[in-house]
Amino acid sequence: MTEFASAMACATCGFKLGEPLATLTVSDLCFVSDHRFPGRCVVTLHQHATELFDLSPALRSAFADDVSAAARAIKLAVNAFKMNYEILGNADPHVHCHLIPRQLDEPKPKVPAWLHPEAQTELAASQADEIKRRIVALHREIPAA
Ligand SMILES: [Zn+2]
Repeated sequence: MTEFASAMACATCGFKLGEPLATLTVSDLCFVSDHRFPGRCVVTLHQHATELFDLSPALRSAFADDVSAAARAIKLAVNAFKMNYEILGNADPHVHCHLIPRQLDEPKPKVPAWLHPEAQTELAASQADEIKRRIVALHREIPAA
C-alpha cells in the first residue's frame, strides 16, 4: 500500500469518490467523512469497468483482496461489530465498493446503512484525521490473509 495525496478521476467516466488514503494493488482506498459511520471508505477499481463479471478472474480476485484488506483495517480502526460491503453502481457505474463500519450503538444497527435515519454530515476534522491515520497504519501493519 502506498500513501498518496490525490487519486485521479476515472479517465473514462470521471468517477471519483472520497478522500484518497492509499493506493492498493488494483484500486484506491478513499475516505468518506460521514458522522453516521466513522471510518466509512470506498475502494475504487483503477481500471474502468462497470460489472464485476467483466473483470478477468485475476483482476476480480485482486479487487476482492484489496476490499478485504481495507475492510479489516477499517474494522479494527473503529472497533466496528460488522463491516458492510456495498457494490451498487446505479448512479456511478464504475466498479467501487463502499465499506461501511457498523456500530451496535447506532439508531438502527441491523438495517442497511442507507436506511440510517439521519442525513450525512461530515465528521469533525480532528476525528476524521485520527480515524484516517489508524486505517492507514493498520492496513500497513496487518499482513494479507
Ligand atoms: Zn470509470
